[in-house]
Amino acid sequence: MNWKNTVAHIDFQAGTTRLKLIVGGRVQGVGFRPTVFRYAKEASAGGFVKNTREGVVIEIEGPAAVLNEFGRNIVEHPPPLARIDRIEASLAEPAGEREFVILPSDEPGGARALFPIDTATCGECLRELRDPGDRRYRYPFINCTNCGPRFTIIEGLPYDRPRTTMSTFAMCAACRAEYGDPADRRFHAEPVSCPACGPVLTLIDARGKRIAGDPIDGARERIAGGAIVAVKGLGGYHIACSAAGPGPVRTLRERKRRPAKPFALMFRDLDTLLGYCRAGEIERRLLESPEAPIVLLRRAGIPLPGSIAPGNGYIGAFLPYTPVHHLLMETFDVLVMTSANYTDEPLISNEEELEGILGSIADAALVHDRPIAHKCDDSIFFVPAGIPVPIRRARGFVPEPAGLPRPVKRCILALGGQMKGTFAVSRDDEVFISPHMGDLGDFRSQRNFRAELEEFIKILEVEPDVVVHDLHPDYFTTRLADGLGIATRIAVQHHHAHAVSVMAEYGLDEPVIAVTFDGTGFGSDGKLWGCEFLLARYDDFERLAHLAYLPLPGGEAAIMEPWRMALVHLWNLFGDDVLGAAHPAAHLLEPFPRGKVLELARRGINAPLTSSMGRLFDAAAFLLRCGGKVSYEAEAAVALEALALDAEENSRYYRFGLGGNDVTVIDPAPVIRGLLDDMERGVARSDIAAAFHESVARLVVGLSEKLAGERGIADVVLSGGVFQNRLLCERIAALGESCRCRLHHHVLVPPNDGGISFGQVRVGAARLEKRA
Ligand code: ZN
Ligand code: ZN
Ligand code: FE
Repeated sequence: MNWKNTVAHIDFQAGTTRLKLIVGGRVQGVGFRPTVFRYAKEASAGGFVKNTREGVVIEIEGPAAVLNEFGRNIVEHPPPLARIDRIEASLAEPAGEREFVILPSDEPGGARALFPIDTATCGECLRELRDPGDRRYRYPFINCTNCGPRFTIIEGLPYDRPRTTMSTFAMCAACRAEYGDPADRRFHAEPVSCPACGPVLTLIDARGKRIAGDPIDGARERIAGGAIVAVKGLGGYHIACSAAGPGPVRTLRERKRRPAKPFALMFRDLDTLLGYCRAGEIERRLLESPEAPIVLLRRAGIPLPGSIAPGNGYIGAFLPYTPVHHLLMETFDVLVMTSANYTDEPLISNEEELEGILGSIADAALVHDRPIAHKCDDSIFFVPAGIPVPIRRARGFVPEPAGLPRPVKRCILALGGQMKGTFAVSRDDEVFISPHMGDLGDFRSQRNFRAELEEFIKILEVEPDVVVHDLHPDYFTTRLADGLGIATRIAVQHHHAHAVSVMAEYGLDEPVIAVTFDGTGFGSDGKLWGCEFLLARYDDFERLAHLAYLPLPGGEAAIMEPWRMALVHLWNLFGDDVLGAAHPAAHLLEPFPRGKVLELARRGINAPLTSSMGRLFDAAAFLLRCGGKVSYEAEAAVALEALALDAEENSRYYRFGLGGNDVTVIDPAPVIRGLLDDMERGVARSDIAAAFHESVARLVVGLSEKLAGERGIADVVLSGGVFQNRLLCERIAALGESCRCRLHHHVLVPPNDGGISFGQVRVGAARLEKRA
């Protein structure tokens, strides 16, 4: 955005000119109008600013030099949360106005409803928080126009205090004065409050009784003493405990019934964090951004208990983002700060749900009386090869809409997948994506999904008349689509949705080669796909290559028991006498009921055929002793990556076989064979793990390049849960530098199934266009 270009077509006359500007982008609910007001005052120019359906409309009059100065200020120094996408400038008739005013918004319904986004405590508020002379000194709910809760307190739109969970707190005179003063940095900050009029922080014990004394001090003492304390945040509760020794973490794992899934760590500030982890420039910027996500980092420096992220090469790190966090963290370098819930159940966000974990998980809870309107987990990013890729898109990003190239007349609702539940709703030329809602297998998660869906539809004032769902007949979301009573239904193949989600992020209009690697998704042939090279367009796709089908013995059970897929791959290699084979790998299977499972595979009983890349990672991980049984999907693959990070020798790799006629079939047998041979030769496990990653990276780049070359395609997109593997992504990026096509990683939605709903909307829109 450049001011000079914006007004290039305008012929400024001598004397007074009146300029009309329509500003689009993220310009409402981010302190844009007060900033405009301030610049206008500085320029002593007259006119007005107001929110309208088209965006922020400004009319301003004065001499050309003054107007240009004003315009440059807005373009070059907008408020920190604003994002200007476009400005339309035109001349208006001078009205002789001397005063500049903020006019009231257009009527609700007329004004385009906009969801503002939760934002980490800003620097100015932090200074006040720590200033003994300030009236909000140590006030745990300090916020301003540039920071604080937003989406998580919204009950309706337009975003105004009466339609938030702050509506029950009557502003005191001092707060009201700030709220009403356009020159104040709390002008129209909807959650504005102070110790005299706002929410109150309380520490309660395991029975829900209030604990006397300063709640922050009390919470700190208990955490320092080894207790586990629930902390109410923006979109739900966290569970905090000491990370100084293994004791509290072990207790937390037992109580949460979460044996291995990593816990996130909150560090006091960036400097402290850098004592424990390695973070590059982009990672640092993400950590300190207003969105303040969790970022996956390599450990380095001061050691942390291994039980925080067992078998994981990375730890999830983040910085305080609410005043409560900042106060709590004053006496700690680092705390475990994990979502409060039982494994696979939704995040806890109200008193009733808190009761379910008080005593059983948490010994105490730091609570307050500002209700949470929307559950919203912490967002998670990782940064392969310098690209920030979301793994979980929630707080700080939801519900910022993604743009559509053309407005869609009908309202499309896409229900996503099953494992990382999200839905997406279109409105005109935008798509609103829900927060991550986790595995939808549990009825509580399903209830939460339905409730959030109803809320979005209500708040956005839309009525979906097209529903898009996955091909999988047994997904909760497919059954939900059946029950919604929406006449137009569109089923979209899982990996096609993955592919289109990346295409849409980059606005790729020509067909692409889509490499989609994940656990499993329901294929058009009824088999379980998961290592697919597709020729993808928005409305349709063609399957060009896939991993050879092998049975998945026990179906879903195989996900938690990587030894089963290892057995299948050995059987694929050695044939029916695999159990009698003298190969040392066969011995690894001895502790498991391998005879029974081999029977399932051989006879095809409860053994659906799959081309899953995730399961191939499982098999390789098992053979390299990364785990026979796991507690969450991909745990073994995560351990395999961690192992590979320790490799000393990186030039080794194995070659996948390529066969088939119309569709290329990728044969994993030579890779498994190479891996076994290296094991027998005594090559270090970590070097073999790295070689396996290199083999997959070479398959991705090599086969994409070949397929793209045959069809004259320039772009390759990568999607699916397997691309949460940072080592794999980095190896692909490195190999991609000498590749003849452009490789694209996700930057907006996650590569895992959390991104499916976004892709589904675009497929739905494309199919509707084609029909029309
Ligand atoms: Zn602030
Ligand atoms: Zn007040
Ligand atoms: Fe998937």
